[in-house]
Amino acid sequence: MSETIEDNLHIIRNRIQQACQKSHRSTSEVKLLLATKTIPAERIKIALQAGQTLIAENKIQELKEKYEALKNSPHENHFIGHLQTNKIKDLLKYEVTCLQSLDRLDLAEKLHQRLCFENKKLDVLIQVNTSGEESKFGVRPDEALDLVQKVARLETLQIQGLMTIGLLSAETEKVRRCFQLLKNIQQQIIAANIPRVTMKELSMGMSGDMETAIEEGATIIRVGTAVFGQRPTPDSYYWNESVTVQ
Ligand SMILES: *Cc1c(COP(=O)(O)O)cnc(C)c1O
Repeated sequence: MSETIEDNLHIIRNRIQQACQKSHRSTSEVKLLLATKTIPAERIKIALQAGQTLIAENKIQELKEKYEALKNSPHENHFIGHLQTNKIKDLLKYEVTCLQSLDRLDLAEKLHQRLCFENKKLDVLIQVNTSGEESKFGVRPDEALDLVQKVARLETLQIQGLMTIGLLSAETEKVRRCFQLLKNIQQQIIAANIPRVTMKELSMGMSGDMETAIEEGATIIRVGTAVFGQRPTPDSYYWNESVTVQ
């Protein structure tokens, strides 16, 4: 089992390297984040022991369940799922360093309140729905700049960039358009020169489309299946608005 995870990581590092070569980028510009939803702590540990340092959950419940078991393996936790406002305290308690899925002002305001109270700051990425699919979370592309401007006024939140889930399609060029759209929005936001806003991170690309994302400028790719194998739970359970059980 450990061999498989290590082998898979090896394969992914090669894929990253080739995609970087193709687009004349340095591999040091692309961080590999492991999406660990449904994966038991013991298996995540194998990946951490193999040298990975960045992991992310989609649900606070899973973050909580695995926290103790992973505490002593050095790593950084991001959060990539839909966050309900009543889970903000837990997000901070379990030491998430970056919320990649900030997609609405009311969540930002409630985070800010809590962060003020705890005298903390938090890195965030703004999640944009670039595929136009209703089942995906994220701010609409034409509303992204406005959301960034408003979130930028909340001084506990440090905007570091943007995140998206591309269209799940076998047609590479359609998927590529999602990533290009995210890059365009990034450029617009940079041009708007908003105080305190950094646009250095573009979190895009998963197991099936990481090469395309890297070619279009991804700085963080989020990979689950290609490391840990197929998950038993369909992704709609994590991505669909109609499912709010946490
Ligand atoms: C599950 C998930 C991933 C990883 O998807 P894979 O196809 O398993 O690599 C990336 N980002 C988000 C937001 C996810 O929920």
